[in-house]
Amino acid sequence: MGQLAITGGAPLRSAIYPGRRTMGQAEKQAVIDVMDSDKLSSFFGSPGDQWLGGERVKEFERKWADKYGFKHAISVNSWTTGLMTAVGAVGIEPGDEVICSPYTMSASATAALFYGGIPVFADIDPDTFNITADTIEQVITPRTRAILVVHIFGQAADMDPIMALARKHGIKVIEDAAQAPGVFYKGRPIGAIGDIGGFSLNYHKHVHTGEGGMLVTNDDQVALRAQLIRNHAENLVEAQGVDDLSNMIGSNYRLTELQAAIGSVQLDRLDGYLDHRHKLAQHLSAQLAAIPGFTPPVLAEGAGHAYYCYPVRYDAAVTGIKRELFVRAVNAELPPPVPGEAVPLAQAYVRPLYLAPLYQKKIALGSKGFPWTMQPDVDYRYAKGLCPVTERMHEQEMLLPTVIREPLTTADIDDFVAAIRKVLAHKDELAALA
Ligand SMILES: *Cc1c(COP(=O)(O)O)cnc(C)c1O
Repeated sequence: MGQLAITGGAPLRSAIYPGRRTMGQAEKQAVIDVMDSDKLSSFFGSPGDQWLGGERVKEFERKWADKYGFKHAISVNSWTTGLMTAVGAVGIEPGDEVICSPYTMSASATAALFYGGIPVFADIDPDTFNITADTIEQVITPRTRAILVVHIFGQAADMDPIMALARKHGIKVIEDAAQAPGVFYKGRPIGAIGDIGGFSLNYHKHVHTGEGGMLVTNDDQVALRAQLIRNHAENLVEAQGVDDLSNMIGSNYRLTELQAAIGSVQLDRLDGYLDHRHKLAQHLSAQLAAIPGFTPPVLAEGAGHAYYCYPVRYDAAVTGIKRELFVRAVNAELPPPVPGEAVPLAQAYVRPLYLAPLYQKKIALGSKGFPWTMQPDVDYRYAKGLCPVTERMHEQEMLLPTVIREPLTTADIDDFVAAIRKVLAHKDELAALA
């Protein structure tokens, strides 16, 4: 192998990694059928037959629920609004603490804030990157009302101990399975192991409707409250016989018939995507496990993985190359991404959430410090160092190869590994750049 591309040598591969194509003939036909019907949405925000939406919305929800055996599936116009709906449906009130992971998309925590809930962060496990019963227990207080469990990167969190802890303390559990559709935990589909949860259907997720989300729950009461919040609860509570008016200010989080029609077709593709990603992940893990300094994803017992992301731990002390330089050197060996795709190797995921100005300044709703002002005797601290494992993963150890996706093949993965091996074999050349 010749000189490194980053120091002026020829890159290992120049053929582009083809981009994802998500829409096929069946989606096109489904859209045309809705256009022909002229009913792009059939929701009404008032009592009557259509408060739960039109034919395609109902069909999409039934199909999702039946595929996995959920009692209820409730579509929403994004998973961000889905999370807000879930928080409202389980009855979070101003001043209630909601425990969440700091290593997730920002909406996992802001959902609580929209109901005046106060996010409290539990650290992640260094093997699975999920919060655990142990880390959650360390931050439970008499004010804790819910745990928002994120199945990050697509791997199911260890739900049994979390549910036992939650039941012991009388705490609700919401599952953010945005990145983990179709994933099982010990034989049970994730999403509704807790009180309510669900999936994102934005363009970047495994299956999508452009924007969208799907809530799932096995609890009739929680389902009804979620349906009401989705669609102007304030107009519907009497007709639905709902006496508990808490959080029954509804909104409009409705999915259109067009999106639902696309979603029904997309759902049929999900198992194929999951299989494909499993094969690529297995192939990559087998090779990375043989390279000193790399720890491929650790699969916890009974926990399925959707490989929305494929997180690898990197030990610069073993490889002798700083992470940032290593990432640049590997990407230089590989083709630049086609528009809309990420570079082949990314360094870490999002910044730990509590480091954002929102938490540092504690300004969320309005400018006077609400909802933290609901607990005047508690000193909520979101200081650096709050979740040391999260910070270490983010700042030092995590790598996110983005080559685990359709339509890439195991041969594409082999080139990726060859780029890694080439960079490692030339570490002396890199010393000059460091
Ligand atoms: C994508 C995502 C969301 C938000 O979903 P949207 O549909 O984009 O609103 C929330 N949580 C996690 C973990 C996600 O990955």
